[in-house]
Amino acid sequence: MASRQYKNEYTTVDVKGVRFGNGYFSYIAGPCAIESYDVLAKTASEVKKAGAGMLRGGAFKPRTSPYTFQGLGKEGLEILTAVGKELDMPTVSEITDPRQLELFDNIDMLQVGTRNMQNYELLKELGNSQKPVLLKRGMGSTIEEFLMCAEYILSGGNMNVVLCERGIRTFSPAFRNTFDIGGIVRLKTITHLPVIGDPSHSAGIAYPVPSLSFAAAAAGADGLMLEVHSEPEKSLSDAEQAIDPECFGSIVKKVDNIRKTILEK
Ligand code: PEP
Ligand code: MN
Repeated sequence: MASRQYKNEYTTVDVKGVRFGNGYFSYIAGPCAIESYDVLAKTASEVKKAGAGMLRGGAFKPRTSPYTFQGLGKEGLEILTAVGKELDMPTVSEITDPRQLELFDNIDMLQVGTRNMQNYELLKELGNSQKPVLLKRGMGSTIEEFLMCAEYILSGGNMNVVLCERGIRTFSPAFRNTFDIGGIVRLKTITHLPVIGDPSHSAGIAYPVPSLSFAAAAAGADGLMLEVHSEPEKSLSDAEQAIDPECFGSIVKKVDNIRKTILEK
C-alpha cells in the first residue's frame, strides 16, 4: 500500500492545513523536549515568524540514559496544545506506548520515533486512528523494513503517514548518525508517501544542520523537521544539536531557493 505500484500519484498529507507531499513542502520546528510554557511559547513564536508551519516538542522522551530528563509527560502535551492553539500551529509529539493515546487527543500528529519504528502493537493501534502519523526510520533499519512499518499503519486503514529520514548507524565517524540522502531519493522513487528529513538527529550537533537541510531539499524531500530552541545551550535535551531561531530562518530562506532551482523545468 505504500508503493507506487499500488498508487502512482504522490500523496499529500494534510495536518490541519499544513501539507506535505505531492508538491507541498513544510517545516516542523521546535525544541527536542517541552520544558516549560514560557520557553515553548517563545521558541514557537520565533519559529513561526521564520516560516515553520508545525510546532514540535517531546513530552515522553525516549532518552538513552534513564538518568537524564525524561520529559513532562501529560503536562507537556497540555503546554504544547495550548501554545499550538495560541499561535495557530498544528502540533506533533512522540508517542511511545499505545496506552498514551488518550493523552494525545488534542495533538494533531503522532510521532513514532526511531526506537519504536518496529513497535508493531503501537503501529497497529495508530492504523486504527485517522490521525496523521510521522514515522521515523529506525536507526538500524533498511528502506524495506521502514516501508513495511508504514504498511502496518496503512493496512489498518490510516493513509495519513509521513516518513522521516533521521540518520542511520554506519561506520562513518563524521557525525552521530549518517544522513541517508540516497535513502530519501530511493524512497521518493518507490513510495507515494511524503518523505521529510530530520538533519538534527542525523548530525547530533548543530553546525552541519544547515548543510544537511539543503541536501535533503535538493534530494527531493517534502519537508524538514528541525530542533530549534530560543536558547539552544539551555536545552534540557539534545542541546548540542539545537539551532537558534535565526539559524532556522536562514535555512528556510535558502531551502526555498534550492527548491525553486530544483523544481525549474
Ligand atoms: C525526537 O524527534 O526528538 C527524537 C527522539 O527523534 P528520534 O526518534 O529520531 O531519535
Ligand atoms: Mn531530540
